[in-house]
Amino acid sequence: MRKKGFTLIELLVVISIIALLLAILMPSLALVKEKAKLVICKTNLKQYGLAIKMYLLDNGDDFPYARASIFDPLTTGQTYSCQWHDGSHNYMGDKQKQGPLFEYMESMKIHLCPTFKKFAREYGPNHLGHNNSGIAIEPVYSYSQNVFLGHNPGVWEKGVKKGSQVVRPAKVITFVEETLWQIDGFASHILNDTIFFARHMNDSFEGDCIATYHGTSVQKKNDGEGNTIFFDGHVDLLDYKEKFEYSWGTLSASFTYSWPKGRVGSQRPY
Ligand SMILES: [Zn+2]
Ligand SMILES: [Zn+2]
Repeated sequence: MRKKGFTLIELLVVISIIALLLAILMPSLALVKEKAKLVICKTNLKQYGLAIKMYLLDNGDDFPYARASIFDPLTTGQTYSCQWHDGSHNYMGDKQKQGPLFEYMESMKIHLCPTFKKFAREYGPNHLGHNNSGIAIEPVYSYSQNVFLGHNPGVWEKGVKKGSQVVRPAKVITFVEETLWQIDGFASHILNDTIFFARHMNDSFEGDCIATYHGTSVQKKNDGEGNTIFFDGHVDLLDYKEKFEYSWGTLSASFTYSWPKGRVGSQRPY
């Protein structure tokens, strides 16, 4: 008569089947996890989009000063480059350090893309201008405002001051995930302050660039795409590698989607 329960062989077979099922499921679980992170990132940016719309309604349609719209910027010293991960500057708990948009989006969770967090932890200490004197890598924010929106003194004063002056709202980004590393031919600057300043490809330096955190790994960090919110309120992934050719030169996706004064045709934007 057969004994009840499993024999050792049966048990081993069951275990190996479970192991096989797990091995099959693992990659798709990772994919599901990344999809969830992507959705959170897009939702964060939706909040940013709503915040700036409400700000415009409350302030006579004038954009806020991009450099200090969400957080008060660190202006001096080496730590300036490390602002994005300097947890000692806790904008969340200190009203003095919060910009005018902050009151429309007080949740600290919406300032960080979960996918960015992973990249930031692994790559963080290697970023341009990193201060090695012991600032912990505690990501604080990951999005920045298009500098061509608002009265931004200096070279940034070339954009528009009011919401109604944005010529193609569905084609102009308000906030963007910005790259954390330099990319040859595209990005000479990295996420440091809270402004996104994309320059002409044919200017002497490239400026800020759309990030590449989504759809790739830290090992292949330049291969991905970054989320952006457009002025009409829709969120989309953009590829920094996209280039737009004109008779007078080439523009990157970062610049083309930042320029608020209409289609760039035969004329250079500035
Ligand atoms: Zn993201
Ligand atoms: Zn740093």
